Amino acid sequence: MPLVRYRKVVILGYRSVGKTSLAHQFVEGKFLERYDPTVENTYSKIVTLGKDEFHLHLVDTAGQDEYSILPYSFIIGVHGYVLVYSVTSLHSFQVIESLYQKLHEGHGKTRLPVVLVGNKADLSPNREVQAIEGKKLAESWGATFMESSARENQLTQGIFTKVIQEIARVENSYGQE
Ligand code: GDP
Repeated sequence: MPLVRYRKVVILGYRSVGKTSLAHQFVEGKFLERYDPTVENTYSKIVTLGKDEFHLHLVDTAGQDEYSILPYSFIIGVHGYVLVYSVTSLHSFQVIESLYQKLHEGHGKTRLPVVLVGNKADLSPNREVQAIEGKKLAESWGATFMESSARENQLTQGIFTKVIQEIARVENSYGQE
């Protein structure tokens, strides 16, 4: 019997960037056109990566802005983060920078397993954030960057497998110190 490792991942970002749609697409395998604004939802899924199995517990949050105070439940016992902005909203990208700083402070400035996601890439004609800007921001944190569309199942799967890999990468880097 393989060991099933528990991983708690919180999805953060400004409202309406597609946090719920990404979580829903990942867990249910479909895109819904309309959602009511989320209060807070949790999802669970077993993810197999090679020989390893993970019990991924996803927390989909109500959305934050630069003034939000992050509750302890978003810090304590959380293994990794998916930070989401919309490529069609510069403001949502700016909010991400301040959220990252808050997480960084909350965790005592340790390295954080983060996947930065520029969502709604299918709406490219309405772009306000170029892919290179997302890439540079993620690089400045030593994190992973990807663009996605919650309409596309494969892209969505990639985000959540990546965050599990990021958690392992950060854990291993501490083990080697
Ligand atoms: P949240 O508030 O961040 O959880 O955002 P939602 O998941 O509720 O999505 C907000 C709106 O954007 C909804 O109308 C979604 O259907 C739409 N949406 C979410 N992701 C995408 C995407 O990747 N592409 C497009 N075209 N629309 C999206």
